[in-house]
Parts: sequence; C-alpha cells; structure tokens
Amino acid sequence: MKILSAEFIKSATAPSHYPEGLFSEVAFVGRSNVGKSSLINALVGRKNLAKTSNTPGRTQLVNFFLINHRYSFVDLPGYGFARVPEAVRRNWGPMVETYLKERPSLRLVILIMDIRRDPAAHDMELLRWLNHYHIQALLVLTKIDKLSKSQVRIHARRIAEMLTKGAESTPPPSFILFSARTGEGKDAIWSFIEAL
Ligand code: GDP
Repeated sequence: MKILSAEFIKSATAPSHYPEGLFSEVAFVGRSNVGKSSLINALVGRKNLAKTSNTPGRTQLVNFFLINHRYSFVDLPGYGFARVPEAVRRNWGPMVETYLKERPSLRLVILIMDIRRDPAAHDMELLRWLNHYHIQALLVLTKIDKLSKSQVRIHARRIAEMLTKGAESTPPPSFILFSARTGEGKDAIWSFIEAL
C-alpha cells in the first residue's frame, strides 16, 4: 500500500465526539506496551503518527487517523497499564465496548499480542465481544524478531491453542506474524485490510 497521506483527526472518549464515520474503519487494540503504536506507524510508514509511549495520557482515549483519505485507523486505549489509576482502568471496558457497539463504519479490529506472552484475560474478553457483535477480527502476533523461527512457531501454536480453548466454541481469528523492527508481516496485514 502506497501511503500518500496519514493524519491525526481527533481523540474522543464518547460516541458524540467521534468523527463522522465516512471511511472504512480499522481499529487497533492490545495490552499496553504490546507494540500497537509501532504497528500503526509501520503500516503507514510514519515514525510518529501514533505515539509510541510509556505515558498513559493519550493512550486512554480513542484516537482517530485518516489514511490516504480512504481508511480510518483507530487507536483504541491499551489495557493492563500498571501506572494507570484504578478508576481509569475500570473505564477501559465500557469505553471500548461502546466504541465496538456504536460504530457502523468499523470493518475490522486488529488485536495485537506479543508473540512471547500468553493471551491475557482482556484479550479473551475482546475476542468474545468481537464475536458477539459480529465484527471481523485479525490477530497480529508482534515482536517476532525477538524469537528464533522455531520458537515463533511454538509460541504461535500455543497462543492459537489457548484462544481456541478460551473461545467457547467460536473459531479463533486468522493471525499474521509481525515485526515492527524488520517490517515482516506488514504487506500481509495491508492485503488483509484491502481484501475486506
Ligand atoms: P504500545 O504501548 O502498544 O503502543 O507499544 P509501543 O509501540 O510504544 O512499543 C512498546 C515497546 O516495544 C517500544 O519500546 C517499542 O520499540 C517496542 N516494540 C514494538 N514493536 C516491536 C517489534 O516488533 N520488535 C521489537 N523488537 N520491539 C518492538
């Protein structure tokens, strides 16, 4: 995908503040520090469009971007950030679920997981919501550059097994292996987006 333009549109907490849903929307979600901003930046070929950050501030909002005047990308708040106050943490579920429920232009949710870690409770919860609301999901297993090829296979299989077990008979989503460091997987993710 040739990126001609990529711009930040706005941040929101409630649907009344979302921009109009004029474009096909792809949302990104995952545990804090999983590499969500790095993935968004890699996909659009910009170093700093999404803030790679260790600060909870903007990461607790729903951030909207417009790519090539054609796709809307949405950076959803991360979860499991230790330094986020309890009240903010409790707000995560309602904020994200409201977004998923009330966004007709949403076409795809990309759930990002660290290839080295087992799925967290929130990862499972998200997949259940996506199934429940019939929203297409794509799992991106990131940071594969941190493991050997054989370890990548072992970990990917383990994650798939755990998701299958935890998914209560709903099929686990397709997944793509990715590294922000090498760019591996980037074209596959764009192909998935464009095929929708
Ligand atoms: P976010 O909190 O989910 O947005 O995570 P960031 O994108 O800010 O990344 C968190 C940390 O992981 C940063 O230090 C990144 O440089 C690092 N990181 C992200 N993606 C990768 C990857 O694919 N490979 C490696 N080696 N490091 C990564």
